[in-house]
Amino acid sequence: MSTLRFHAIKKTLDRKPVHVEEIERRSELFGRNVFNEATMRQFLTKEAFNSVMAAMQNGTKIDRSVADHISTGMKEWAISKGATHYTHWFQPLTGSTAEKHDAFFETIGNGLAIEKFGGSQLVQQEPDASSFPNGGIRNTFEARGYTAWDPTSPAFIYGTALCIPTVFVSYTGEALDYKTPLLRALYAMDNAAVAVCKYFDKNVKKVNTSLGWEQEYFLVDSALAASRPDIVQTGRTLLGHSAAKGQQLDDHYFGSIPARALAYMRDLEKECMLLGIPVKTRHNEVAPNQFELAPIFDEANLAVDHNSLLMDVMDKVSERHNFKVLFHEKPFAGVNGSGKHNNWSLSTDTGVNLLGPGKTPMSNLQFLTFFINTIKAVNDNEELLRAAIASAGNDHRLGANEAPPAIMSIFIGEQLTNVLNELENVTDGKLSPQEKTDLKLNVVGKIPDVLLDNTDRNRTSPFAFTGNKFEFRAVGSTANCGNPMTVLNTIVAKQLTDFKVEVDKLIKKNAMKKDDAIFNVLREYIKNSKKILFEGNGYGEAWEKEAKKRGLSNHRTTPEALKAKVSKKAIKLFEEMGVMNKVESEARYEIEMEDYVMRIQIEGRVLGDIARNHIVPIAVQYQNRLIKNVVGLKEIYGSEFKKFAQEQLNLIEDISGHISSINSDVTRMTDERRTANLLEDYEQKAHDYCHKVKPLFDSIRYHCDKLELLVDDEIWPMTKYRELLFTN
Ligand code: ADP
Ligand code: MG
Repeated sequence: MSTLRFHAIKKTLDRKPVHVEEIERRSELFGRNVFNEATMRQFLTKEAFNSVMAAMQNGTKIDRSVADHISTGMKEWAISKGATHYTHWFQPLTGSTAEKHDAFFETIGNGLAIEKFGGSQLVQQEPDASSFPNGGIRNTFEARGYTAWDPTSPAFIYGTALCIPTVFVSYTGEALDYKTPLLRALYAMDNAAVAVCKYFDKNVKKVNTSLGWEQEYFLVDSALAASRPDIVQTGRTLLGHSAAKGQQLDDHYFGSIPARALAYMRDLEKECMLLGIPVKTRHNEVAPNQFELAPIFDEANLAVDHNSLLMDVMDKVSERHNFKVLFHEKPFAGVNGSGKHNNWSLSTDTGVNLLGPGKTPMSNLQFLTFFINTIKAVNDNEELLRAAIASAGNDHRLGANEAPPAIMSIFIGEQLTNVLNELENVTDGKLSPQEKTDLKLNVVGKIPDVLLDNTDRNRTSPFAFTGNKFEFRAVGSTANCGNPMTVLNTIVAKQLTDFKVEVDKLIKKNAMKKDDAIFNVLREYIKNSKKILFEGNGYGEAWEKEAKKRGLSNHRTTPEALKAKVSKKAIKLFEEMGVMNKVESEARYEIEMEDYVMRIQIEGRVLGDIARNHIVPIAVQYQNRLIKNVVGLKEIYGSEFKKFAQEQLNLIEDISGHISSINSDVTRMTDERRTANLLEDYEQKAHDYCHKVKPLFDSIRYHCDKLELLVDDEIWPMTKYRELLFTN
């Protein structure tokens, strides 16, 4: 009953910020718990060290005998830091990270024991794959799965365990995690981008993808969170009337950070430092109790690992501060939800950011090449990119009036739009010397200047160019960045591969000069990618109409959006780029559709329970009080009683109306769930959960929220929005 609510509020009001010891120089903490280059030099033989470095830099295989030396060095280091266990750390398709700890401790007979960690334990383990989502791969093949060491992401100590980042694959080699396809996509990108870089600089040997994510989240006091069954079970509020004051005064964004939240952030940042997560920025976000954290960008695979690890660390540290972190994309109706911006760029081993304008016309032509190829890739694969960010939670954001719409488009700013307009007019075929000089001086050569002035930012764009990188803003806050990063890198790698073929063809067959050929191909790309470029207000209705005219997709729900993952085109693309085979693509589709169904199913059950077992009984109780009051008034005033009881009589009627609506809607929802559960076909099931079950949530919520406004605050059982969002 409401006792829990008031108990939680009291507890929250009594809390003080937890003291966090600050150290003078955080840089001294950085990477202390990471088996990084400096540590490896100290704990590894020269041969072992060189072999890990070669694996990290060039992907060369590590010899088994060397692996034994590496594992021994790792173990010695880990034990010196207080670790007792080791674990393969991986990212199954559940969305969270997985670990199974084994002790270094080993018996050797005669009652003796040692600490041991061999090369084979470092390199490979065999967790049971059947208990992780596998999308039917398990049925077709064996249940066994393998985790295999990813030497490109350094081992780290978390708590008392040495964690070894690994990929997770089935017995037959199919990817069962986020990391495997990501590594394959990054490899494809490296190859494709290096080949294109050779047009501009023969010395380029490697292209790295960089990712700088920005993580949004809510902090709610742990007692308040625990008082709400919906937060406990689904990570979001399924009902609750809006607080009188929400975010309308815009007084939270970049405001002064509340003391308890700040203590939490400082503690969290220290943990991040130790783990080598280079966190840099913290601030209040738009909604009350909403915050953001962002690191310095890193190589994409490492950045993805860091983000997955971070979400776990955030959870653990929050317990010390009596908070619950909400990662859900839409924990509260009526205020902003949370996303995870993915800043993405490409850089060469010669130190050039390929999406940053250069100093010379030639380096700017290189910039334009990568810039325009990215635009073309998104233009041709917008549905696949939309599918990469689809989830039950993100459905609340995309298309709602606060976040990027469900329509993918690219914002590049006025100046670059002008540059593209100029390039669109270059001569078909060979360019005259005069035209080339003009282009180099007045268009390509001017880019660095124009970008400096290019300060207009369009916050409504899901995919925006921001000076030296693209920012993919539509990613959900709970998402594993590996998924959108795999798709983005695959489509751009494919596009760069096609570009190389086309340019080479013009050079060979039409005897064109290299830059003529590049200008010619880019011109055609610009002409063919117009539909994806949009500079206006992405939240407006006009854009929806315009986008439809342009033939852009607008998939508002997850089941609809996910279909693009298994289109013929997508399956072929992933196969061709060596990122996923057909079985893997189809398995992922099935897993994500099932995940969607399960989440809506859980929400439906929780909502039904709260409405029927928490709210209706309290409404009835309050109504009885009113009835008693009316009966009393009648006793006193006889036939005159209505003069004094009208308000109560109205309330009694209103309450009855809401109760009866709730009951019939909950019954209908339960029936719809039952019918949907019987469906064999998972696509049909997801469709029905989306279009038959979920719409009833709104109506149930509506009536519950109305009751919240009618029933005595003293007995209301659910912690209210104003309490959840404004007590800290
Ligand atoms: P904002 O977008 O909030 O105005 P910035 O443009 O400075 O701020 O950067 C936002 C994020 O972009 C940061 O997390 C940063 O690490 C990341 N970032 C900056 N440069 C790159 C890059 N070349 N590649 C990937 N991410 C980058
Ligand atoms: Mg940003």
